Amino acid sequence: MRYCSLGSGSRGNATVVQQGRMSLLVDCGFSRKNLVARLEQAQVDIQGLQGVLVTHEHGDHAKGVLTVCESFDVPFYTSFGTARKMGWLSHPLWHCIRGDEPLRIAGWDVMPVVVPHDAQEPLQFVIRNERGLVLGLLSDLGSLTAHLLHHYRACHGLQVEANHDVPLLRAGPYPPSLQARVAGQFGHLSNEQCADFLLRVRWSGLQHVSAGHISEKNNDRHLVRSCLAPVLDCRPDDVNLLEQDTVSDWYCLA
Ligand SMILES: [Zn+2]
Ligand SMILES: [Zn+2]
Repeated sequence: MRYCSLGSGSRGNATVVQQGRMSLLVDCGFSRKNLVARLEQAQVDIQGLQGVLVTHEHGDHAKGVLTVCESFDVPFYTSFGTARKMGWLSHPLWHCIRGDEPLRIAGWDVMPVVVPHDAQEPLQFVIRNERGLVLGLLSDLGSLTAHLLHHYRACHGLQVEANHDVPLLRAGPYPPSLQARVAGQFGHLSNEQCADFLLRVRWSGLQHVSAGHISEKNNDRHLVRSCLAPVLDCRPDDVNLLEQDTVSDWYCLA
């Protein structure tokens, strides 16, 4: 199993997970044209796309879902709350999923995990292949809960949010109400919260960690690196950071 980020940040998110010729998309916050270009860059054949998992209704995760799924006749999976908010409840390609109720798509076992975020019924995903290799994708959450820490233990690959640096957010351009939302229990993870998450879930089987959804206004990539390096026991330059406009490397789990 391998995975790569097609882009990560407040202007659009999508991650592709691949096993053989089959692939799964998590979120589609890009237009159809933009997504297709990014899939081509990553050399993913869209004909192998088995489904799109959608974390929540915010535009940076959901805005391209319908056009992409309708164009390529691909099913999409969201919570009831996300579908209701998006007006998808009667769409023929929609499948309803719930937190803590595992589902199977192609060869993958997917566990939807409820997270605290200011959306209708947001979910994040832990994806296991038939050989027991586990990828945890986690973004758009304001705080860590015992429930989610339980689900993200023992992942072989992790892609996690490091959204903001608290002092930069405080000094940044956002109005106080938006600052409070981002930093709140239902907002986004700070660099420190990301480090705390990794400290709690890291284990000897962890092969790859990448940090994403990095704010362009309220964070600094050097700060992310220096915050995460001690927890990952690596040099700051070796911390993998995802980018908004660039397709990442492939990370292979073996
Ligand atoms: Zn987001
Ligand atoms: Zn969001």
